[in-house]
Amino acid sequence: MSDPLLRVENLYKHYPVTKGILLSRTIGEVKAVDGISFTIRAGETLGLVGESGCGKTTASKLVLNLEQPTSGQVLVQGKAVHDLDGAEKSEYRALVQAVFQDPWASLDPRMRVGNLIGEALIVTKWGNPSEIERRVADLLELVGLRPEHAQQYPHEFSGGQRQRIALASALASNPKLIVLDEPVSALDVSIRAQMMNLLKDIQEEREVAYLLVAHDLATVRYMAHQVAVMYMGQIVEYAPTEKLFEEVRHPYTKALLSAVLPDHPDLRSDEIILIGEIPSPLETPTGCSFHTRCPYAMPQCKGEEPALRETTPEHFVACHLE
Ligand code: SF4
Repeated sequence: MSDPLLRVENLYKHYPVTKGILLSRTIGEVKAVDGISFTIRAGETLGLVGESGCGKTTASKLVLNLEQPTSGQVLVQGKAVHDLDGAEKSEYRALVQAVFQDPWASLDPRMRVGNLIGEALIVTKWGNPSEIERRVADLLELVGLRPEHAQQYPHEFSGGQRQRIALASALASNPKLIVLDEPVSALDVSIRAQMMNLLKDIQEEREVAYLLVAHDLATVRYMAHQVAVMYMGQIVEYAPTEKLFEEVRHPYTKALLSAVLPDHPDLRSDEIILIGEIPSPLETPTGCSFHTRCPYAMPQCKGEEPALRETTPEHFVACHLE
């Protein structure tokens, strides 16, 4: 099997927490990402799922090289992303793109859609103005919009159309990987499926890989080839999508399923109601970080941290019950 496109190896991002203004001192640290590893093959999707605050967005920022890791590395096509500079860094920016949850935040309202999509092409002198115009028209059609939409401004479009514009803009540099951060959660339920289908069609046509950051397992189940479930900065369950949903193993994943999908009977396992909130990141529980909310917690769970182990082929779980 070929090398993965993206390899995340033992990645940590800890933020120091300081107190005082003039003589500030470190009083602790937030372990936003705490030793995660995963891979994504070309043309495939990995769904990174968990409640807000679990570290999935920090992980995606590390992949996008918007944050420096505390330790560990992110390799894209075998190159360590955080060591790149000069021309290699520009190449990386073309290779790895992002689409965020809120297209309002990522689309400059003063720019016409054609310029928004063609911006990267203009900066990199990709072609002459008429070639760029043609490419922008092709990209608009690829995402289900019309070439004449290039003349309009973002506010003239619906939320779903704006997300399509953001996708066209991300596709302009012909990326191999797109980080999709909650790409459908701000959209009306009625148009979510359209957007997910569009993303899947484009993936098939262009062999682009996705790192899909999402809080709900239904989106991930529909879109992803692999799923990694995160809790308090760590991956607690990781498997090919079919295997994971065939037999959900970790109590936290089971809880996410019963909490998020009450009206999908085929996806339900034993109902688990999650008690309370994620603990403060400043006070990570000892042992298994889920023990304060887990209905199956045993004395061992408080004192001993479970390792992420391959419990059945390709299915990794971090739980003492496995
Ligand atoms: Fe629950 Fe213990 Fe498993 Fe953690 S290790 S998920 S507390 S049973």
